[in-house]
Parts: sequence; C-alpha cells; structure tokens
Amino acid sequence: MFDWLIVGAGFAGSVLAERLATQLKQTVLIIDRRPHIGGNAYDCYDAAGVLMHRYGPHIFHTNSSEIFQYLSNFTEWRSYEHRVRASVKGQQLPIPINRTTLNRLYGLQLSTEEEAEAFYESRRESIDTIRTSEDVVVDRVGRELYELFFRGYTRKQWGLDPSQLDKSVTARVPTRANTDDRYFGDSHQFMPKDGYTRMFERMLDNPRISIMLQTDFNMIKKLVPYRNLIFTGAVDEYFDRCYGALPYRSLRFEHVTLPKEWHQDVAVVNYPGDEPFTRVSEYKHLTGQVHPFTTITYEHPTDIGDPYYPIPCDSNRALYRKYQALAASQSDVHFVGRLATYQYYNMDQVVGQALATFRRIRDAEQRVAPDVTDRSFASA
Ligand code: FAD
Ligand code: UDP
Repeated sequence: MFDWLIVGAGFAGSVLAERLATQLKQTVLIIDRRPHIGGNAYDCYDAAGVLMHRYGPHIFHTNSSEIFQYLSNFTEWRSYEHRVRASVKGQQLPIPINRTTLNRLYGLQLSTEEEAEAFYESRRESIDTIRTSEDVVVDRVGRELYELFFRGYTRKQWGLDPSQLDKSVTARVPTRANTDDRYFGDSHQFMPKDGYTRMFERMLDNPRISIMLQTDFNMIKKLVPYRNLIFTGAVDEYFDRCYGALPYRSLRFEHVTLPKEWHQDVAVVNYPGDEPFTRVSEYKHLTGQVHPFTTITYEHPTDIGDPYYPIPCDSNRALYRKYQALAASQSDVHFVGRLATYQYYNMDQVVGQALATFRRIRDAEQRVAPDVTDRSFASA
C-alpha cells in the first residue's frame, strides 16, 4: 500500500513526490506514461552527444527566491540570460521589441528612452478596454509592428487570430524603450548545470519513492493500492471528457543535428512570417556545451498530438470551470500542474503551485498528527 500515487513525473509530480517523501516520510509511487521522468522539461544527450530538450527549449526564470532556493537543493546552476531574435524583413531583430529593434527596422537613430516612447506613442492605437492579445500589442506599439512581429506568429502558434485569444498570451512579451534585449526580466535566470533530467533524478532519489515509467494511470489505477492520489495530467482526460474535450495546442518537434559548431547567433530565432514553423532553437547556447556538432529544433504547431498548451480564451475557461468544480468535489484527489489546472504556467509557477499544495497537505495532516512533519521546505 502506497501512501500516495502520483500521476506524472514532471515538475508538479516530482516536487510533490520529493516533499511527501522527505518531509512527511510517506511512501510514493510516481508513474508516467512516457519512458522518462522530467515531463516536458526532459533533456538528454542525442545520438551525436549533444545535450538537447526533447520537448523544445526550456529556460528557467523566476522572481521567487523561495522557488529558486528550493530547486537549488537538487542542482547547481549555470548563469544564462535568454536572448531571442525575430526574423523580420530579412533581418534578425531583437524581440521583445526594444529601441534597437526600432532603429534597425526603420533605419532610425533613437538614442533615449524618451525618443523611443515618443515613437511608440506616434504609432499606437489607444484602446479603451484591453481584452485580447491583439489589443495588448496594438495599444502599445501600433498595427504595423503588431503585424510584423505578433500576428503571424500567434496565428501559427495557436491556430487562432490574436483577437480571439486572451490578452494574457501576448502580454507575456513586454515592449521596451531601452536597449535591454533579454527575453525575461526576472531576478533569477539560470539553467540547471547538469541539465533538467539530472535535477529530477536527484529530486526523486529517495528510498520512499518508487518510479514506474511507460505506465498509464488507466492501466494501473485498479491494480495498485494507494491511499491518496495526485493527478498532473489533463483534467478533462481524468474525467473521461464528460463535458467535452478541453482544447489544447500541440507541437511537432523536428530535431536536426548539423555537422557544424553553430547554426545561429542566439538560442532562439522566432519566425513570424510564412514559414511553417514558429521558432528554431539551438541548445548549446542554453547549456554551454562545447561540441563540434550542434542540434536545433524546429517547432511546428498542430492540433494533433500531446497536449502542450492550454488555450487561454473565455470559452475554454468556462469549460475548464466545469471540470474545476468536479475536481474540487474529489476530496481525496489533488489536481496540480499546467494540464491539471488548465493554466499557461511556466516551470517556476508549477513548482510554486506544487509547494503550495504540499503545504496544504502537510497542514491538514498536522491537524491530525501534530508531530510528524518538518516545517521547513527551503532545505531538502
Ligand atoms: P508536464 O511537464 O506536462 O508533466 C505531466 C506529465 O504527466 C507528463 O510527463 C505526462 O506524460 C504525464 N501524464 C499525463 N497523463 C498521464 C496519465 N494518464 N498516465 C501517466 N502519465 C501521465 N516553462 C518555463 O518556465 N520556461 C520555458 O522556457 C518553457 N518553455 C517551454 C517550451 C515548450 C515547447 C513547452 C510546451 C512548455 C514550456 N514551458 C516553459 C512550460 C513548462 O514545460 C511547464 O510549465 C512544466 O513542464 C509543467 O510541468 P507539469 O508537471 O505541470 O506538466
Ligand atoms: N509571440 C509572438 N511573436 C513572438 C513571440 C511571442 O507573436 O516573436 C506571442 C505568441 O502568441 C506566443 C506568445 O506571444 O505564443 C507568448 O510568447 P512566449 O515566448 O512566452 O511563448 P512560449 O515560450 O510559452 O511558447
């Protein structure tokens, strides 16, 4: 009899397995239908020996010292600040749009933030109530920059026009008047020094944690005895899509190894134009690996395949709320993670959600048996 069955060995499942085993001294069986741990953050050495990310580029960034400290129990870090270029009108220009982007695109010489702000002001279309992903960008930089950098990319990525998507989607990408060309502004920006998978291995390395891979929940739910369940897969799948399927966007990853040292100047180049892919990632920029070959990934968005992205819009949120109410009524099941709570979460947000879930579980157990737990969670 396991104290816990955890479905999914990504960030949500692995953080909870680690906390329950080390802090509450409980036994955990963690399963995943894939042949590996790490969920979408899984990385591995490919046939050429290049460290790459099977499910597209994952860059760790957070403003939470607590989350950073927690993960630091399982990895050392490599300082890395992410930079992205967008392929627009034959140039590779900084995205997020900044002053350099404007100067290079329009042949300008804007030299201060005030001049760049005045440029945006002259182009923007003021929108009273910003609701959609189109509104966010057009209101800030105007229609031309929106069409060059956002409309095509978003239509490819989501299969929807930005006007059909929540403002939160394109609001992830800021617009800057300075020349800061980093993709993220967070206080902590790092890559795990030996890769994500190694970090997950250390997290799950505990005699109280058993791991079963290539194991679907449906295959074993009636066979394995457990007291409590944590589910980190798609919430609609758990309930047999009883209210209809929640929409997700998928990706086809085309991984290519090239017999040369470098392919592009930065880790990610975005393609907002007619190309059938959205972006090309080159992993050695992220990992710092020295290797005579390089591995890159083209991302081809599609509706078919594993669910990677919940699609933020009103109708999907309304459908999710029905599943959320059903989930809340299952007192012995915890739904945690990007797919189980249908949230467009980054890795750090999933870690934060898992740690908060652990605190609730621990506090509930402490009300029953006050002595069992160690209150700290910043140390392993
Ligand atoms: P997942 O990692 O999806 O793990 C869930 C696991 O559950 C999966 O391994 C799945 O196989 C398993 N599972 C599901 N159902 C079942 C079942 N019935 N039986 C058995 N197993 C099951 N975040 C960042 O912070 N920075 C980035 O740069 C970044 N880049 C990204 C790039 C891409 C292309 C994608 C798709 C996401 C990116 N993210 C990034 C987001 C990040 O991947 C997620 O926030 C995080 O991995 C979510 O963790 P999770 O545990 O909720 O889900
Ligand atoms: N986006 C865009 N052009 C870009 C970069 C982003 O249109 O060059 C939009 C697109 O809709 C994308 C969203 O902004 O899905 C969020 O971008 P982010 O890089 O955060 O996406 P993710 O890394 O999660 O795929």
